[in-house]
Amino acid sequence: MEKLLEGKIALITGAGRGIGRGIAIAYAKQGATVLINYNGSKERAEAVCEEIRANGGTAESFGFNVADYAASEKAVKDILEKYGRVDILVNNAGITKDNLILKMSEQDFDDVININLKGAFNLIKHLSRNFLKLRHGKIINISSVSGVMGNPGQANYAASKAGIIGLTKSIARELGSRNVCVNAIAPGFVETDMTNALPEAVLERGKESTVLGRLGRVEDIADAAVFLGSGMADYITGQVLCVDGGMAI
Ligand code: NAP
Repeated sequence: MEKLLEGKIALITGAGRGIGRGIAIAYAKQGATVLINYNGSKERAEAVCEEIRANGGTAESFGFNVADYAASEKAVKDILEKYGRVDILVNNAGITKDNLILKMSEQDFDDVININLKGAFNLIKHLSRNFLKLRHGKIINISSVSGVMGNPGQANYAASKAGIIGLTKSIARELGSRNVCVNAIAPGFVETDMTNALPEAVLERGKESTVLGRLGRVEDIADAAVFLGSGMADYITGQVLCVDGGMAI
């Protein structure tokens, strides 16, 4: 069967674990060369690369903090020198620092905005010339239902994820004439380290708030990212695809 991402070069941020790892493995299965960014999880990122190579795919890991403008610029330069181009960018790296607004520190607000929102800006900015020259390409930004609906205790996170939606729509308008599609995925509760840190009662409420009656799996998000990264989504841009079991209906 024809692979959906054959010959494509994909850069995925935060791909050493969680949803990013799932997207990296799914992309490799579909024939993409996968460039795996990590920040703290060097060994896990290398393990993802080894798993992909063991299955006949191509992968390399790149360590840098997406919130660091200069470090992201240097990494993009190195990647373009070695691989020549990036066809698909997935801005997945993200963190939470939850607290009610009364207790939320300035630092916790800044950290979440810097990684979740500015991190995506940094990669898009440094790869914009690449995409303009290519005259094709896909950018997929991982938002969240929190960015669509808001969530108590997540003012910083929801603001960053709503910001991702504005960024997505604006860049879609800027790059559309060059045939570059820019979309966001808004996952609901997905079983990863991020949600494992939540109390059981919160996860149970999350499950009950879906129409499908279950939490999301990493593969649910990876499948959507494969679709949006593939030629099957060539006429889709500026959209927010909620992959949330119906939570945000
Ligand atoms: P996770 O398991 O906690 O993983 C977070 C990932 O982000 C890790 O790979 C981490 O890399 C990376 N990261 C964090 N800070 C970074 C930085 N400064 N530079 C580069 N990478 C960095 O979280 P997840 O659940 O997979 O979440 C992935 C994305 O989906 C996030 O954007 C999250 O907001 C979004 N999302 C998740 C859910 C959910 O329920 N899980 C729901 C909606 C949206 P290192 O370990 O290498 O530092």
